[in-house]
Amino acid sequence: MAGAADRAIGIDLGTTYSCVAVWEQEQGHVEIIVNDQGNRTTPSYVAFTDTESLVGDAAFNQILRNPTNSIFDAKRLIGRKFSDDTIQGDVKLWPFKVIEGPDDKPMIVVTYQEQEKQFTAEEISSMVLIKMRKIAEAYLGSTVTSAVITVPAYFNNSQRQATKDAGATAGLNVMRIINEPTAAAIAYGIDKKASWHGKRNVMIFDIGGGTLDVSLLTIGDGVFEVKATAGETHLGGEDFDNRLVNYCVEQFKRKTNADLTGNSRALRRLRNECEKAKRRLSFSATTEIEIDCLDKDNDFYVTITRAKFEQLNLDFFNKCMEPVEKCLRDANMDVDSVDDVVLAGGSSRIPKVQQLLENVFKGKELCKGINPDEAIAYGAAVQAAVLSGYEIEKLQDFTLLDVIPLSLGVEISVPSTGDEHCMQVVIPRNTRVPIKVNITLWTTYNNQVEAVFGIYEGESSTTLNNNFLGKFVLEGIPPAPAGHISFDVCFDMDANGILSVSAQDTSTGQKKGITIISKKQ
Ligand code: ADP
Ligand code: MG
Repeated sequence: MAGAADRAIGIDLGTTYSCVAVWEQEQGHVEIIVNDQGNRTTPSYVAFTDTESLVGDAAFNQILRNPTNSIFDAKRLIGRKFSDDTIQGDVKLWPFKVIEGPDDKPMIVVTYQEQEKQFTAEEISSMVLIKMRKIAEAYLGSTVTSAVITVPAYFNNSQRQATKDAGATAGLNVMRIINEPTAAAIAYGIDKKASWHGKRNVMIFDIGGGTLDVSLLTIGDGVFEVKATAGETHLGGEDFDNRLVNYCVEQFKRKTNADLTGNSRALRRLRNECEKAKRRLSFSATTEIEIDCLDKDNDFYVTITRAKFEQLNLDFFNKCMEPVEKCLRDANMDVDSVDDVVLAGGSSRIPKVQQLLENVFKGKELCKGINPDEAIAYGAAVQAAVLSGYEIEKLQDFTLLDVIPLSLGVEISVPSTGDEHCMQVVIPRNTRVPIKVNITLWTTYNNQVEAVFGIYEGESSTTLNNNFLGKFVLEGIPPAPAGHISFDVCFDMDANGILSVSAQDTSTGQKKGITIISKKQ
């Protein structure tokens, strides 16, 4: 039983907005904690000025004055390499500067206290986490040291580890990293449990500012089992905003002949107004955008209909349905076997998205009962309470089973085919974690004295198309004909989704291994 002084919190560390919650044992409910501005969600923004650093609403509110030193979207960078295609694409859109650092790590460059400074995405995320921690401490009136933090189901190992590192830097003991849709399912499960009988198949469709996550879970008897996950790490509300911004830039050019490209202040003002207009279009069929002196003396005024917004984004909205189909295929389920389709994430309020999703499910009514902005933090807070030893009556025998989103394997060469880049899957996608799997591999050529173990994740049969996670070399193998020396290779993934791999030369007993973690500074 946890003491009052060390209450563990749940944090939804979002791409655009973050949310913090805590389990209140006495009242028997989750409290979504309001920040110092009275808001239940906090922008995941960090800004640097000549005198101070700002986080959350304070950072968001000064962005027009200071666009190049106001950082957002750190979650798009975390645990990724600078050369990553999506990062290369993003860099062109961001008003702040990102450069290639050591080991291909992206570094965010800002002017802070009149000096040039560089930050990693983990450091920016840790500042957001500190803010969320302080919001909780102000509410609880005590120090907070432990938290459960959520990540998109599609986050790979390095992204999960980097998120954990950010938590540690924020002074938090990260009790567990859980998948966002799983957290939403916990919130939904608690909400519904009283009226549930037997097992239910639930699809969580979570679309926020930066990522789309689709998961199929089986819920019953307090067990939340993730059957399959699919998603897009780069599809969300900000992409819809971009389309609207581009449309407005064209309209502005047509009317005034002025080109806003490269005018970061004007683009930021435009983006803010486009985002608000988009939100309004979820509730009304038409809206106006009006900005005075957008470029010099030129004002901007445009009417946008919901139909226009939908036309601008239709390919994106259709793309949102692909992971739904994939998730169903992977789980070997058809649409009729899904009992509930649950919406989560701010962008799930867009009527066209809801309509397309309803069509996929043959007109089924979607579950909109849980607050899409808060469900994930809600579930994380419940998980934090359970891990702290609280006995939650509604969650008797609470267990949470999770799966790995991408197959994990080792690179092998197949001499008969001449292919040196075969992916041998060790743990298939959608296997439950924690999991430990041992396989045996053999030397592939005569008198082989060293063996390289390259670890990959992905679904391709060639490692060239999969994500490289790390490698290690086992040396000092006694000379022998090919196939005479065997290695015992062990893949061990813990409950946080962090992978350790080892290999042992069975002839000498020599052993080597690695834990796949992101590179620390
Ligand atoms: P994340 O978890 O990625 O930070 P959220 O789930 O908080 O994201 O959702 C934020 C996104 O939802 C933003 O892109 C925001 O513009 C969008 N959003 C919020 N409310 C609405 C709405 N009413 N209609 C359309 N989009 C919305
Ligand atoms: Mg989210």
